[in-house]
Amino acid sequence: MTEKRVRVRIAPSPTGYFHVGSARPALFNWLFARQHGGDFVVRVEDTDRTRYNAEAVPDLADSLRWLGLDWDEGPEVGGDFGPYYQSERLELYHHYAEKLVSEGHAYRCYCSPQRLAALREQQMEQKTDVGYDRHCRHLTAAQHAKYQAEGITPVIRLKVPLEGQTSFHDVLYGTITVENKTLDDLILLKSDGFPTYHLAVVVDDHLMEISHIMRGDEWLPSVPKHILIYNAFGWELPIFAHVPLILAPEGKGKLSKRHGGVEIRYFRDHGYLPEAMVNYLARVGWSYDDKTEIFDRDALVRYFGLFGINISPARFSYKRLDSMNAYYIRQLGADDLASRLVPFLRQEGLDVESTDLIPLVPLIQERLKTLSEAAGWIDFFFREPADYDATLLVGKKMTASASRDALQQAHERLAALPDFEVETIDSALRALADELGLKVGQLLGVVRVAVSGKTVAPPLFETLSILGRERVLTRIDRGIDALSALTD
Ligand code: GLU
Ligand code: ZN
Repeated sequence: MTEKRVRVRIAPSPTGYFHVGSARPALFNWLFARQHGGDFVVRVEDTDRTRYNAEAVPDLADSLRWLGLDWDEGPEVGGDFGPYYQSERLELYHHYAEKLVSEGHAYRCYCSPQRLAALREQQMEQKTDVGYDRHCRHLTAAQHAKYQAEGITPVIRLKVPLEGQTSFHDVLYGTITVENKTLDDLILLKSDGFPTYHLAVVVDDHLMEISHIMRGDEWLPSVPKHILIYNAFGWELPIFAHVPLILAPEGKGKLSKRHGGVEIRYFRDHGYLPEAMVNYLARVGWSYDDKTEIFDRDALVRYFGLFGINISPARFSYKRLDSMNAYYIRQLGADDLASRLVPFLRQEGLDVESTDLIPLVPLIQERLKTLSEAAGWIDFFFREPADYDATLLVGKKMTASASRDALQQAHERLAALPDFEVETIDSALRALADELGLKVGQLLGVVRVAVSGKTVAPPLFETLSILGRERVLTRIDRGIDALSALTD
């Protein structure tokens, strides 16, 4: 027997920007496909036109590309199983819904929304099961003809078996069984000609030869309905694996905007590395052993397995993501980090090239949690320090005039140095601090604010050397002037 080709898919509804909650199952599917040399398919479930958002698919494509999750079939790339937009597949759903009607597995229902509403109200009052009462399941041919003559467009409903049970196996949740009598005769095709999710998903997963369905466990309750549809068609079932949702950091409720950024574009725009994001998303609720945190993409493809997924929901931790991101930033080569920083610095209005940044990389690489923090560290290399509060220039436990004197002396020493190398500056300023009876930190603090406008900045001797003597002296002059305006 030849083994079935592994074909997995994600089936996003284009209603908004791509969310980490969807990115995680997307990653799992991608890893699974790559691990088995199979296909990763993107199918756009866009039959709900009221919630359609034109930016969603381009955002999805950008996000997947950014994460490095290339897809073999779907938007932009096409494929042999298209179309990959459900809105372009309406005829197929019609065809298959009609097939079930003609084979006796489904029927037309003419009930008006008013009748269904009244029915629901009555059921609520009597506290009986809420659901469709199967009124149209047994209509005679004459009754059908009468409704058709009235011009009512029917929906198509599945004839759910009235007795027995429906069971299926989920790789993570095990065997799940429901009593058929608890299931409604669900709608397959709506009167506007659009399929319901249930019909479309089954038809598409079948026609696209999807072998494994891996998705968020919010879809688990729908599976028995899908099984009944598969059975009605006589189609082979795919393998199901439902993965738990990502919870909010505090462990209660779904991760949502209120906790921080939740869209993949947010993380991209805030200076997270796709490598870190992928590693983090894989590790939320999946483990290989109980200690390994860092998995690069190849390691994930090698080691990822459905059985390592924990079915208790996992919390999203911004802190863990940040530390993972910092780790991946530290691993980058100087050229690579410099070129990744360019767009973030330009966005802050700094006119930089990556070659300008290479010498600065050693000053900040260990300090960055995200790429977007870089501007806050090194902007003053590319423009004059923003106006800062002159009182920041006053050194710790120093007066304004003592700080001014110290700056004046520093100016003279630095102006007289034979060169502007790090070691030369280092010994000159240490010696000066000594002579002035100051702690090194006191003197450096004053100089730091004068040249950078900040109290926290990259290592000072390196900073001075890279800034160059001329700029350093001019900024120290500015500091002296600012201090002169202060009284002790
Ligand atoms: N369109 C559904 C969604 O937006 C797809 C669910 C599934 O994967 O079957 O998540
Ligand atoms: Zn009906």
